[in-house]
Amino acid sequence: MTKDQIKQEIIRYGNMLIEKGLCTGTGGNISVRLPENNGFMITPSGIPYPAITPEDIVVMDFDGNIIEGKRTPSIERNMHRAIFNARPDVNAIVHTHQNLASAVAATRQDFPPILDAFVAVFGGGLKCAKYASIGTEDLAKNVVEGLGNRNGVLLANHGALCTGKTLDLAFGNCEFLEASAMTYCFAHIIGKPVVLGQDVVEKEAKDLAKRYGQR
Ligand SMILES: [Zn+2]
Repeated sequence: MTKDQIKQEIIRYGNMLIEKGLCTGTGGNISVRLPENNGFMITPSGIPYPAITPEDIVVMDFDGNIIEGKRTPSIERNMHRAIFNARPDVNAIVHTHQNLASAVAATRQDFPPILDAFVAVFGGGLKCAKYASIGTEDLAKNVVEGLGNRNGVLLANHGALCTGKTLDLAFGNCEFLEASAMTYCFAHIIGKPVVLGQDVVEKEAKDLAKRYGQR
């Protein structure tokens, strides 16, 4: 994909954040690693998604300098940069304020593995990153720590973040996390959700990855 095509993709998925109810207003942010791996593109700060044009997308290097663009990049640029630096396998990051995952994050509890499919997608439960103020280096550090080698993390009293090899996968992980969070919340209404044991999680994570999908 060319840089222009990636900018279009970021805009398209930004609008989908609103359409799918994963964010409202100017909440959340999206970034994609440059194909040359010398930086990343990120959504601008405080512009409603439907109003964002390709010129508004900011290109930054991994030291935090703006390489291209006149807009102020997302307030969470430190967090995106820290993840790209820590995780060479991650090419796209979607940060949301999705309602139900945020409800779990408001309890500052980790998201336990209560569904087989969750284990297949995320490889086990997800951590809730320690609280720090929006846009700070501390939040960036906590989120990298909470994410570990998974593709999802909760942000205490704030929201969620998913990563992926592509923007499509990162966005899909956010949608899947939200659907799972709904199941988790409802399970609490019905009774006490049973958390899958570590032995089952390890077996399922390995086994399902082999058995599921097209060969
Ligand atoms: Zn946020």
